[in-house]
Order: sequence, then structure tokens, then C-alpha cells
Amino acid sequence: MKSTYVEERERGRPPARTQERLLTLIVPVYNEQHAIGPFLDAARAALALLDARFDTEILFVNDGSRDGTEFVLRSYMQKDERIRLINLSRNFGKEAALCAGMDHARGDAVIPVDVDLQDDVSIIPEMIEKWELGAQIVNAKRRDRSSDSWLKRVTARGFYRVFNALSDQPMPSDVGDFRLLDRQVVDVIRSLGEKVRLNKALFAWVGFDSDEVTYQRNCRRAGKTRMGYWKLWNMALDGIFASSTKPLRVWTYVGSALAFASFLYAAWIFLRTLVFGVDVPGYASTLVLILMFGGVQLFAIGILGEYVGRILTEVRERPLYIVRSSHPAEATRPAGARPHGI
Ligand code: UDP
Ligand code: MG
Repeated sequence: MKSTYVEERERGRPPARTQERLLTLIVPVYNEQHAIGPFLDAARAALALLDARFDTEILFVNDGSRDGTEFVLRSYMQKDERIRLINLSRNFGKEAALCAGMDHARGDAVIPVDVDLQDDVSIIPEMIEKWELGAQIVNAKRRDRSSDSWLKRVTARGFYRVFNALSDQPMPSDVGDFRLLDRQVVDVIRSLGEKVRLNKALFAWVGFDSDEVTYQRNCRRAGKTRMGYWKLWNMALDGIFASSTKPLRVWTYVGSALAFASFLYAAWIFLRTLVFGVDVPGYASTLVLILMFGGVQLFAIGILGEYVGRILTEVRERPLYIVRSSHPAEATRPAGARPHGI
């Protein structure tokens, strides 16, 4: 276990970083007009503990909300100059919204956080402590999944098991997007050109020194989840097929095994015919084999299709998101990597 900022200071060892810096919270929002007020109250309380040492910006990415989200945010902006707002031209999904947030965040440290208060913002000062001690990624690890439904728990466990079996860079099953990322990490992630992306998988893939803070994940404070099972299923497929080519390679082995088995079967039929003569019955076994090979081939073609479809998405090079407007207008995104949106 690494020691805390306070312990290090008491031992007379100055923390690695001390000068005043900018912290960005990236908050994707989709139809969240009722969640914004409680979120800002909680975030302000947590950030107040850092006020002396950090400037902060709270960067909302409005992911094509059709309710009063933009109106609510604009009215809060008038009272709090730390709030920035980027409106996307339609709903692009949370992964794209996060990407837009990372492209526009100016902070030395960046923390993506959900607006529904499921991510406990009160642990942010603790995350900052670990960052000041040198960790470039500080994961917020949930203690348990008691706030999730039974079905969500089972499907999530299944996804992480499959993902970690297939991908070279495993990702922890109890850490979401809520984590602190150092500017260097954000710049590396921004420089990755891929369009099909699961941010959590990229956070795990980039490496860097990491540390963790644990927290109790709350239930959603207002509204209901914007991530239905169909969205989660598609995200899971994107994550797996974008991170691993093992599902393609497995067909080489399945194909070889089937070819070998067919060869043995043919040899067996040949010998049997030599010994017992011609044997007409065989309709059932033929049908079974045709159906089995047909099924296996269709499944393999389906897997190929998953990759070909994603190759199309990549070569088409459409932006990941489109910005309709940003407020305040003069606050532009940092220079550097090619942005993923326009
Ligand atoms: N979100 C988004 N675009 C979407 C879906 C969700 O920006 O298409 C935001 C949402 O407003 C919230 C965060 O992503 O701030 C997490 O969404 P949600 O709480 O619905 O997901 P869950 O916690 O159920 O996985
Ligand atoms: Mg949530």
C-alpha cells in the first residue's frame, strides 16, 4: 500500500507536485436535467477542499439531450465561472461524449465522472493525493456491486471474464470510467486514432503508474439509467472486437480440428465399406453433418463480419462526435493531438 499525501508530508518528504494546477471534471450528460443540481452541490463541496491548491473546471458534455439539460446548465454557468459546456449535435453515446470531454479538457489532471452521483465525488481529494505522490492514473475501485441489479452483476461479470480471456491487456472488473488521469495519459489517449473504442479498455491499455482509491457506489440519485442492456451489449462487442483478434484466430483451430475429424471419419467409412460392403443408410448422419458445418461456417462468417464492419467504421474516418456549440466560446481545446470530433 502506498502512503498518503499527509503521511509523506509528516515524514518531511515533499510531495512530487506542489504548484497550483488545473483540475478538470468531465461530466457527460444525456437528458439529466434533474441530476445536475444535486451533482453540482456534491462536486462543489468536494472541490472546496482543494480550492487553495487547485483551479478547477467542470466540463459538461451535453450528449444531445432533448430535455431541459442545456437550459439548466446555462443557468448554472451564469453563477459559476468554473462550469464549461460543450453541446454535441445529437446523441453520440457516452464513449464519444467522454472522448469529446478529453479533447476539450485543459486540466493537468482530468477526472471523468457520471452526473447521477453513482461515482462518489467526495473521494476526489483522496485521488488528488495519490496523483500528487506520483501516480499517473488513480483508479476509483468500487467496494462491491450491491447498487447494481442481479442481471447487471451477472452480465458484467460475464463480460469482464470474456474480455480478460481474449485481450492481452486485462482490465479490472470493479473500476469504471471514474478515475483520475494525468495530462500525459490524456494526451496519449487523445493521440490514439481509432474510432471504435471502449475508453475503459484504453485506460487499461496505455499502462503508466497507477494507484487506487476505494469507494461505495451509490444508487442513481435522480432519473433512470441511460444505458439500456442493448447499449451495454453493443459497447461490450466494441470493446472485445476492438481489443483482440483472438476471436478471428480461433477459427483456424476450429477449422483444422474439423478437417482432421472429417479425414478420420472418411477413413473410417472407407475401411467399413471394404470390410462390410456398401451401406446405404446414412441419411441422418449426413443431415446432421451438413447442419453442423453450415452453422459453424455461418458463425465464423458472422465473426468476420464483426471485424469487417469495424474496419469500415475506421477507414470511413467520420468524426466520433460533432460539436454544435461550446460555452464560453473562447475556451478552446488544448492543442496537440488530432481531435476525434469536429
Ligand atoms: N450518458 C451520456 N450519453 C448516453 C448515455 C449516458 O452522456 O448516451 C451519460 C449519463 O448522462 C451519465 C453517464 O453517461 O452521466 C452514465 O450514464 P448512466 O448513469 O445512465 O449509466 P449507468 O450508470 O447506468 O451505467
Ligand atoms: Mg449511472
